[in-house]
Amino acid sequence: DKADIGVTGLATMGRNLARNFAHHGHVVAVHNRTESRTTRFMEEHRDEGAFLPASTVEEFVASLERPRKAIIMVKAGAPTDAVIEELAAVMEPGDMIIDGGNAHYMDTRRREAALRERGIHFVGTGISGGEEGALNGPSIMPGGDAEAYKTLGPLLEDVAAKVDGVSCCVHVGPDGAGHFVKMVHNGIEYADMQLIAESYDLLRQALGLSPQELSGVFREWNQGDLESYLIEITAEVLGHTDPATGKPFVDVVQDQAEQKGTGRWTVQSALDLGVPVTGIAEAVFARALSGHPEQRAAARSLTGPSGTAGDSGLVEDVRRALYASKIVAYAQGFDQMAAASAEYGWDLNLGAMATIWRGGCIIRARFLDRIRAAYDADPNLPTLLVDPTFAQALEEAQESWRRVVATAATIGVPTPGFSSALAYYDGLRRDRLPAALLQGLRDFFGAHTYRRVDREGSFHTDWSADRAERSA
Ligand code: NDP
Repeated sequence: DKADIGVTGLATMGRNLARNFAHHGHVVAVHNRTESRTTRFMEEHRDEGAFLPASTVEEFVASLERPRKAIIMVKAGAPTDAVIEELAAVMEPGDMIIDGGNAHYMDTRRREAALRERGIHFVGTGISGGEEGALNGPSIMPGGDAEAYKTLGPLLEDVAAKVDGVSCCVHVGPDGAGHFVKMVHNGIEYADMQLIAESYDLLRQALGLSPQELSGVFREWNQGDLESYLIEITAEVLGHTDPATGKPFVDVVQDQAEQKGTGRWTVQSALDLGVPVTGIAEAVFARALSGHPEQRAAARSLTGPSGTAGDSGLVEDVRRALYASKIVAYAQGFDQMAAASAEYGWDLNLGAMATIWRGGCIIRARFLDRIRAAYDADPNLPTLLVDPTFAQALEEAQESWRRVVATAATIGVPTPGFSSALAYYDGLRRDRLPAALLQGLRDFFGAHTYRRVDREGSFHTDWSADRAERSA
């Protein structure tokens, strides 16, 4: 008679999520601003389970079992605020509003605080996996308070993807933690895709391999360390022939990457937190560079090499460079989650984040088991790079990695992902960084002071006079 859960917003994601709940035996209330969408939903899916269609928000809320649980799956931003307000106006203390859209975590923090005042639990929830995932089991990253999770959690865990019998849903942490983690997931996805794209580009240019041949290379890579959804679909896309022209599909697609903004959000947040997520940043910037056709047309007159290089050994080199760079990109993303956890008091369990990304979401990969194992072994790992398994992988990969970056530079193929990952690796492991010189310069022009390696305290050198040093 009453619904276990409700979904408002029946576009691609909401529709499939509602069906997923119903397929798992839950009674689902469904609602959409424009009623025709609800009507169509019922026409198409009523046989799949128990749905309670509602034409108004009041009816929708009234059809929910207490404590009421309403998932919002509408456009992020102002539409989400509007729907929250409509729901909250007719809800009661103890009820739950779950935002499953791609909200910015700062919006989620704001909304959670405002609704808490009114006694309503607000659970900002990251959902990854696109329309397929929503239907068959996404990766679910709920934030909000632990009390809400007690009754909501089992429902979400039920419809999430499962890997080795473990649900890809866990209570991430309070307020905006879920949406933050979803954001970083997307940022890592950008980095992962950029590295794959560089691998393809370099091998195609250096060895003259065709997209068909490269499809085979990626298919083979998917059998090893790199096994992942993204590598698998890379083989699919590269192997696809455009039916209209008979050309490789990848050659008829305009080479200007678009973005919806979560990668940019990740980098903006990382800048604020002071975490060097160079892999994600380079990926966001590489997309931005591709999207400047006028500059690119003008720059075609600039000179540079464009030859071939290497032999079949380069394929294995690139595979290793890709793996090493991927480790770096993930290490940076996990650093960002650790930093946010400290900043906002979220107490994130990093190993659990790797666990819920193993299935359902876009970056699902075997690799995430290794990250989980690394945090299981040492929850306070200063960086994933020093986990013994990853440290060894980096050691094994690094000759190849350096050859790949050198080859790319020599023949003029841009590999910002590979290059910056290697620079990060070398930067972190370096005994002395030139930051010492930077400090000297800062003190010279701005009296910004510096610390010494041999004594406590801050110091300033009187650069314009006798160059005597004094305590600052
Ligand atoms: P859209 O983002 O395209 O949003 C369409 C839905 O929003 C419709 O139901 C529409 O209702 C509703 N809507 C828009 N404005 C309002 C408003 N002011 N008041 C009430 N309802 C409104 O739908 P998607 O299914 O693609 O995505 C839903 C959410 O999930 C988004 O936040 C998206 O970022 C996120 N997401 C999407 C993924 C994807 O792969 N598409 C993956 C993961 C998350 P109406 O029919 O009346 O216009």
